[in-house]
Amino acid sequence: MPNISPEVQVRWNDMVALRRDLHQHPELGFHETRTAGIVAERLRAMGYTVRTGLGKTGVTGFLKCGRPGKTVLLRADIDALPIHEQTDAPYASQRLGAMHACGHDAHTAMALSAAEVLAKEAPTLNGNLFFVFQPAEELLIGASAMLRDGALEGVAPDAGFAVHVMNRIPVGTIAVRSGPVMTSADKLGIVVTGRGGHGANPHNAVDPVVAAAQLITALQTLVSRETHPLKSAVLSVTMLKGGTAFNIIPDTVEMTGTFRCFDADLREALLASLRRTAEGIASALRCTATVANEFLTPAVLNDPALTALAHNVAAEVVGADKVVEWEPLTGSDDVAYFWQRVPGCYAFVGSGRSDGSPSPAGHNARFDIEESCMGIGAEFLVRATRAALQKR
Ligand SMILES: [Zn+2]
Ligand SMILES: [Zn+2]
Repeated sequence: MPNISPEVQVRWNDMVALRRDLHQHPELGFHETRTAGIVAERLRAMGYTVRTGLGKTGVTGFLKCGRPGKTVLLRADIDALPIHEQTDAPYASQRLGAMHACGHDAHTAMALSAAEVLAKEAPTLNGNLFFVFQPAEELLIGASAMLRDGALEGVAPDAGFAVHVMNRIPVGTIAVRSGPVMTSADKLGIVVTGRGGHGANPHNAVDPVVAAAQLITALQTLVSRETHPLKSAVLSVTMLKGGTAFNIIPDTVEMTGTFRCFDADLREALLASLRRTAEGIASALRCTATVANEFLTPAVLNDPALTALAHNVAAEVVGADKVVEWEPLTGSDDVAYFWQRVPGCYAFVGSGRSDGSPSPAGHNARFDIEESCMGIGAEFLVRATRAALQKR
């Protein structure tokens, strides 16, 4: 049985009620006005100094404890996904086309519970508590928007923690890992330009469709032939657009894709290779190609010392044999921008079915969590914060 302290246990009913309320009223990135309102009101009632409207709908809460000391940042994301919920839970989303299918409702409820427990004991703690409730994580642009609006102005956190629920590991487990845990993410846009013409007379046109087809195939060699076999990267072409009729060769073909990796140098090298390949293939086939990349977020890098601390804390909460060291994930989380400024540890709290049967994964219309994971997550955040505040 997980080791949940009475301070967290007494908040259990409230935590579940809040999570279910947020679940019924999901809000997409940068539209989290109701959620942000609830967060701000609760933080104020606990005694935090609250700032709102950071990165449109972000909220922070700062609380000075009894004596001076370190500052610990705790970050939760608050946005939902554009998915139509297909669970039959009594607390299913009441909004068409929006759903908390990634568990950010639970993250918000856990962080608010931790904020309340820590605020109560603040007079006996050294240092400062700093809570960040971040919008638009799913768009990977909420953290940078908050930082641009000065979310960290006047605060110098020494350590940061964040948790994400994870249905691929059963409730009662926590996964922590040092170093890279989530990839960087780039959004790619490639345009191949030729010269349109009649489909029956390709020799009078310059066909961008054939060039695009060869380019997509050639791009598969960037990871398989140019990347060190022990390093990893993902390059997926996910959208292809071109042409209007069966007998017309179009002027252009557009493609979109995603590019993820753990290593900043490798990212730069592969982006250069991507440009070289696109331009070279296009040119060989008399076309031109332009490559645009939007750098959404860096990789999430966990600080080794804080990960060791988090590992110990996780063992206290769920038992050492339930602390999983997991492989890094090729998903992304823009908490990475905070971890660039503050050494941090991002951990996964098991939320899958306790009997080990498969639970729908995040971003699925049937996603739901084992709610008891929230007691574990809140306890982990409280203990990690206490430990980091004490650490000299
Ligand atoms: Zn997500
Ligand atoms: Zn998420």
